[in-house]
Amino acid sequence: MNTAVRHTRLSGLEPLVITPELLFVNVGERTNVTGSAKFKKLIKEDRFDEAVEVARQQVANGAQILDVNMDEGMIDSEKAMVRFLTLIASEPDIARIPVMVDSSKWSVIEAGLKCLQGKGVVNSISMKEGEDAFIEQARTVLRYGAAAVVMAFDEQGQADTCKRKVEICTRAYRILVDEVGFPPEDIIFDPNIFAIATGMEEHNNYAVDFIEAARIIRKTLPHCHISGGVSNVSFSFRGNEVVRQAIHSVFLYHAIKAGMDMGIVNAGAMSIYDELDPELREYVEDVVLNRRPDATERLLTLAERYKGSKGKSQAEDLSWREKDVRARLSHALVHGIDQYVVEDTEEARQQATRPLDVIEGPLMDGMNVVGDLFGAGKMFLPQVVKSARVMKKAVAYLLPFIEAEKEKTGDTGKSNGKIVMATVKGDVHDIGKNIVGVVLACNNFDVVDLGVMVPAQKILDTAVAENADIIGVSGLITPSLEEMGNVAREMQRQGLTIPLLIGGATTSRAHTALKIDPFYKSPTVWVKDASRAVGVAQSLISSELRDAFVAANDADYAEIRERHRNRGDAKRLVSLDKARAQRFDGGWDDYAPPEPKKTGITVFDDYPLQDLLEVIDWTPFFQAWELAGKFPAILEDEVVGQSASELYRDARAMLDKIIAEKWLTAKAVFGLWPANSTGDDVVVDAAPAGETGPTTLHFLRQQVDKPVERPDFCLADFIAPKDSGRQDWIGAFAVTAGIGIEPHLERFRADHDDYNAILLKALADRLAEALAEHLHRRVRKEFWGFDPDESLDNAELIAEKYRGIRPAPGYPACPEHSEKRTLFALLDAGNNAGMTLTDGFAMLPTAAVSGYYFSHPKSQYFVVGRVSKEQVADYAKRKGASLQQAERWLASNLDYDPE
Ligand code: SAH
Repeated sequence: MNTAVRHTRLSGLEPLVITPELLFVNVGERTNVTGSAKFKKLIKEDRFDEAVEVARQQVANGAQILDVNMDEGMIDSEKAMVRFLTLIASEPDIARIPVMVDSSKWSVIEAGLKCLQGKGVVNSISMKEGEDAFIEQARTVLRYGAAAVVMAFDEQGQADTCKRKVEICTRAYRILVDEVGFPPEDIIFDPNIFAIATGMEEHNNYAVDFIEAARIIRKTLPHCHISGGVSNVSFSFRGNEVVRQAIHSVFLYHAIKAGMDMGIVNAGAMSIYDELDPELREYVEDVVLNRRPDATERLLTLAERYKGSKGKSQAEDLSWREKDVRARLSHALVHGIDQYVVEDTEEARQQATRPLDVIEGPLMDGMNVVGDLFGAGKMFLPQVVKSARVMKKAVAYLLPFIEAEKEKTGDTGKSNGKIVMATVKGDVHDIGKNIVGVVLACNNFDVVDLGVMVPAQKILDTAVAENADIIGVSGLITPSLEEMGNVAREMQRQGLTIPLLIGGATTSRAHTALKIDPFYKSPTVWVKDASRAVGVAQSLISSELRDAFVAANDADYAEIRERHRNRGDAKRLVSLDKARAQRFDGGWDDYAPPEPKKTGITVFDDYPLQDLLEVIDWTPFFQAWELAGKFPAILEDEVVGQSASELYRDARAMLDKIIAEKWLTAKAVFGLWPANSTGDDVVVDAAPAGETGPTTLHFLRQQVDKPVERPDFCLADFIAPKDSGRQDWIGAFAVTAGIGIEPHLERFRADHDDYNAILLKALADRLAEALAEHLHRRVRKEFWGFDPDESLDNAELIAEKYRGIRPAPGYPACPEHSEKRTLFALLDAGNNAGMTLTDGFAMLPTAAVSGYYFSHPKSQYFVVGRVSKEQVADYAKRKGASLQQAERWLASNLDYDPE
């Protein structure tokens, strides 16, 4: 053999000689439990025959080496590796090619090596445990006569920069070649392919780092090879196969040119660089080569177009359609597929004695599986709501048959119990309540949902008329807390004894214990989130569980009350005078507030939704679905990542429709007016339409006992006092993205499609928040214009890195909601933005945001918190209201008990 030409020689039943002519060796990746959900499932379910078929398909699609990985907590990896390798060894068309034994456990690798009939590859060894372990592993690999993938990993961790990649690979090479005597052509370096376009700036150069490292390594370390797991690079585009494949092909195009000559890829799902849509290719190239700072954003936007169109490899798996009807219904429920549910339900009905049997049999069985998975944390709310949609459609189909049957037999089927639910009077928010309703309904509770803004009496009357087992009330804004107390009092006064459930964003265990539970003698239970609702409802209805559950709950609340009583005076409030003396100092002698470029009111009758996409804050969207985590990292979260990605995909698809088909209209109005503060008020030189000014805005002040250098804040402090001699300005805004939403919600409801109804509401909320953000930016840059050159990206906007604030009435710095009346009047929000207020000062449409603009560079958010009776009286006087009225407005801030 010519020693100058050292080719790597691997083999299965047939040899694989890696010559430069091969250009690139495909390593089939689908027989890897960490990379393929399908393969994992097959192995876990002991379906080795089908798993072998996956291997066969990889070879048929052009894989030249087969990567086999069995690393999974629930799998006996060693056993699975041996069994699988033994099975494929007797399949000549698979065994033809060499195997790459892939595991992070050395014992699995050794077990695998013992099964190989030719010369395979170990994936992988590295210096992560130091040189000694590395040398020992390399010697073992050598003894088994295998080649090795060497990861760029050392005692410090995985190499991410080009420099580290090259350093580590060079060090490993020297050890292998000089000390161990490892043939250099049997060294395959994996310099780590990491995900790009994740939204994290420090990830943007990962592909470039890999490519450059590959170039240097191939040049400086003779005979070795470069490989890597290609699909990692596109991880952040999970769910968008077209874009992922484009990224892979662009990445490989450049990496191969640089010297990468092997890669773990999904053979058979590769796009060809030259055949890519030129626009897509250019955008992808910008991202891969890190050519422009906005590359990720631009690709994300373009990627929308390719959503839903499936990549070559993503042919829908319809094998479940072959099963019997029971299994099909169960599959459809668990996977939330509503496409075939009517035909399957009909088939099941024909086989059943009574139509009701279909519900109580296969459908409930399927839902029980869903319930178990949800309970075990293996399924999340978006999927459950999708499952419920399947259930609802099936039930809707069966209902006429059941009615007909009922006339004959009088049988109505059994339910777990009946629950009357409502968003309380004054409040319009119902995403959470609707989710709870869906979850309860799919656990066979009979849910009577009274909708939003429901007066207490209507809730009570319905509960009595329906003979309900439970009442559940919900609300989002602070005045709803009071109203819930009112519901409890009325239930007591009118002699009800059924349990009362409390839920919604501003509710809390403490508030329930202190302000609601004492007024109702029967069980009152705070339900933290939708995932708890079923457990609580079941405990309250079950004759075995109820007593213990109620006793525990009572004891819990009693303890909270006890602690509250004993909390002592540790957090004493200071007097209003003292707090005012310790006000925030705006430094008015040295500071001239900026004059707006455009004062008065500006109206946007039809704000372009398209403009809002780039400033959407997605994290609260996932919170609405009870998926915890920050966007975009949440899409890759180990636990909820898949669920979040699916939800995100559905959301982006609906957003496209919302915009293309103009489902929603966004309106906005803002005003910028001359203003000065007097005490805790701000006097604005403006008036509602048809009136004359000035108009006074009323704010509250912290009364916290703080060291002198820390102010007791009031928002009025950020506006120049009248006696400072400085002219100042204040702004206000009201925006909505919910105009026109109703017919679409109605359409979804009529289709038994809560999933899309909730999705639409949640998206309208996001658009409203994005509109508030977008408009605020324009105000800072153009209309007020104090920061014309501001250039913040979305993450910085979300982090509020800009100058000034936009506090919203009802939030902690201005917790009193009735001020929205003044704000709406000044803006004429009804005429200018189609927005109104309910009795409880909730905004309609629901997808709405309103607030003030402050420009002072040191203006900041704070929490007013508890206020003294003295301040409440002072506030009442300033607003021309009675003390009782002010106490009602400030109920959740009071430091004392008005009773
Ligand atoms: N990016 C978020 C924005 C909403 S939360 C989203 O899309 O949902 C941040 C907003 O809440 C601020 O802009 C302000 O209007 C309001 N806010 C937060 N803390 C506040 C406080 N202490 N007082 C008044 N308003 C506050």
